[in-house]
Amino acid sequence: MAAHTVLYWNRATPEVYAVMREETPPELRLLLLESDDPAEARARLAEAEFLLVADWAVTAADLESAPRLRLVQHQGVGYERIDTAALAARKVPLCLCPAGTATGVGEHTLLLILALLKKLVVAHTALVEGRWLQWGLRTETRDLDGKTLGLVGFGRTGRATARRARGFDVRLVAHDPYVRLTAAERAELGVELVGREALFREADIVCLHVPLTAETRHLINRETLGWMKPTAYLVNISRGGVVDQDALVEALRARRIAGAGLDVFSPEPLPPGHPLTTLDNVVLTPHLGAGTLDAFRAKMRFAFENMRRVVRGDPPLERVPGT
Ligand code: NAD
Repeated sequence: MAAHTVLYWNRATPEVYAVMREETPPELRLLLLESDDPAEARARLAEAEFLLVADWAVTAADLESAPRLRLVQHQGVGYERIDTAALAARKVPLCLCPAGTATGVGEHTLLLILALLKKLVVAHTALVEGRWLQWGLRTETRDLDGKTLGLVGFGRTGRATARRARGFDVRLVAHDPYVRLTAAERAELGVELVGREALFREADIVCLHVPLTAETRHLINRETLGWMKPTAYLVNISRGGVVDQDALVEALRARRIAGAGLDVFSPEPLPPGHPLTTLDNVVLTPHLGAGTLDAFRAKMRFAFENMRRVVRGDPPLERVPGT
């Protein structure tokens, strides 16, 4: 049986590659790029039947170099850097990989919320530097219990966060103009859908769970930040471009909001010395949301199984409409 070639359109660590090799089924042959040389990447595209993408762009020019391509399989769900029109013209489907994603993001959102409320990074840094803030932080730390958690975007990751947050006895509100909930869903998720401004004004923590689109770019700006309470926190685990970072830095410096937990930035990686890295009311992680080992294995299993479906002649799952 000739193996079908999968090109990983990304560079990762040897440890990540080892996990990928463990998960690759025998009928697929995994091609891993050995350098950052664009010429190597382009040459490898010629062999690829399947392109497994992470956060690199996929352009029309890339597709021209890939005449054998049958499927572009994203290992995540945010696909704003993939030229879907060029894929549609070639009749190559783009499929997403929700497996593992929502779990990772739901847990990471709660991690950021709790780290902000409990001043985890401030406490840890002070302790290792020899300062014992047992009383110093007493009036600055808060419980999540009883707070209003506002979710902007109520798809997979918004719901995953809602399900996990319920155990903390929070009030849950969500804003998503494209979602209607049945009474059963409202009861199961314990969430109330509200207007955009109401969410920003009422929430003690505003969490972003939207895709980056023309409509959501800079959804967090001077105006929406101005609606937030001075005691409220912002958590962004969606895409950096959803936030006007300059406006956020200003609001954080002036303490117009209490703080921010950010997993995503614009650009990524966030340049060393960026103003966000100089603030004491932020918790920053390098796009780790859905990046746990468990989530990665779940994604690889789903991605490779989807490719096997195509090899068998079955329609792939989680296809982006229009591709
Ligand atoms: P999803 O498509 O399941 O849900 C997104 C929701 O946002 C949808 O319900 C949609 O109706 C809503 N929405 C769109 N425009 C909106 C607007 N203007 N206002 C309010 N709601 C709006 O996607 P998801 O799986 O929940 O993921 C959301 C985004 O999170 C992804 O597109 C991706 O960019 C990002 N993400 C980040 C990580 C990470 O590691 N940090 C991991 C997964 C996803």
